[in-house]
Amino acid sequence: MITIDDFNFEDKKALIRVDFNVPLDESFRVTDTNRIEAAKPTIIKVLEDGGSAILMSHLGRPKGGADPDLSLGHIVDTVSDILGVTVKFVDDCVGENVKKAVDALQPGEVLLLENLRFHAQEEKGEEEFARQLSAWGDIYVNDAFGTAHRAHASTTIVARFFAKRKCFGYLLAREIEAIDKVMETGEKPVTAILGGAKVSSKITIIENILEKVDHLIIGGGMTYTFVKAQGGKVGDSICEDDKTGLALEILEQAKAKGVKVHLPVDVIAADDFDNDAKTRVVAVDQIPDGWQGLDAGPKTLEAFGKVISESRTILWNGPVGVFEMPSFAKGTISIGNYIDQATQAGAFSLVGGGDSVAAVKQFGFEDKVSYVSTGGGAMLESLEGKVLPGIAAILDQG
Ligand code: AMP
Repeated sequence: MITIDDFNFEDKKALIRVDFNVPLDESFRVTDTNRIEAAKPTIIKVLEDGGSAILMSHLGRPKGGADPDLSLGHIVDTVSDILGVTVKFVDDCVGENVKKAVDALQPGEVLLLENLRFHAQEEKGEEEFARQLSAWGDIYVNDAFGTAHRAHASTTIVARFFAKRKCFGYLLAREIEAIDKVMETGEKPVTAILGGAKVSSKITIIENILEKVDHLIIGGGMTYTFVKAQGGKVGDSICEDDKTGLALEILEQAKAKGVKVHLPVDVIAADDFDNDAKTRVVAVDQIPDGWQGLDAGPKTLEAFGKVISESRTILWNGPVGVFEMPSFAKGTISIGNYIDQATQAGAFSLVGGGDSVAAVKQFGFEDKVSYVSTGGGAMLESLEGKVLPGIAAILDQG
């Protein structure tokens, strides 16, 4: 893998695609600086080599034209504070003003370009727009995992103009390594914990993952489609009746591949989808009508805990209950605790994709697992086994 460490940036201009798509409050202050901090090591490496950095990113979803509310100008001071360098800003990402600013840039300096998505050509992946962007740098660095699954001009197409002068930044390299550790090179036993609401949204992941893991733990709302498929009573639990055939097929495939599937045996059932609903613990296949399973039960957690504690590589995607409601968050917290313990005992654990990251942050497991992915959709597509266009564009050094 070709990374930023393979280049010396002395007197070079690095064109770096970062993911500064950060949340802003009503006064346009950055409310979560994680993504900026995550890109810092890459930017600092360029500056310490004696190079300069030209940063490009999108912010929000402007409709293909300039939108002052979504200007990256709002974040310049925050980026300056985090980097410890006064960041310069230019009010566009292509054109004469940018050329002037880039030409004037000295080693050790950082220039932030305006929101790429103010130009519709960015999301269209237009080659001419990518060519204009490419003029700003000697070396192209992609450090934006969150957009690596998009074939946009700045994430993928621009790389065509940097034959043998393109590489991954530290953040993107770490993401690739973490996924690789789980999907390819991980120590066995490898366990995937898949939760979340629906089988239909996870089917491609499940199919791909069956090739890679020894244990598959299924939790959350997906459970009930599997239970019903096997003839169980799921009451009013969330269930995709049209996916029961698929659920049985998955179980068959798992058996054929020697993957052990672990489904809940008991659940916390509630008489309403409400934090204050009445609850009771019931067998997963005996949920009375009028009741719905909203969290994993105690026997289930014990069994899941045993599998997790014996795993050397762990992937976690999706909560095992409706964690947004405190009454049904205990299962998800327990899973986090088991993964924490396994990680302390030397296992490699990766959390990523969609809501699992929110759950991990909410319950403070961020520093207790080996790696939390920064990309929701990009992570999901990686788990589906897709080669992300932004990554392929660097791997192909031509
Ligand atoms: P996903 O984005 O597919 O990972 O789904 C996450 C969502 O699944 C969260 O909002 C959870 O509240 C929801 N979820 C987890 N377990 C259940 C359940 N038993 N019933 C309904 N929704 C659930």
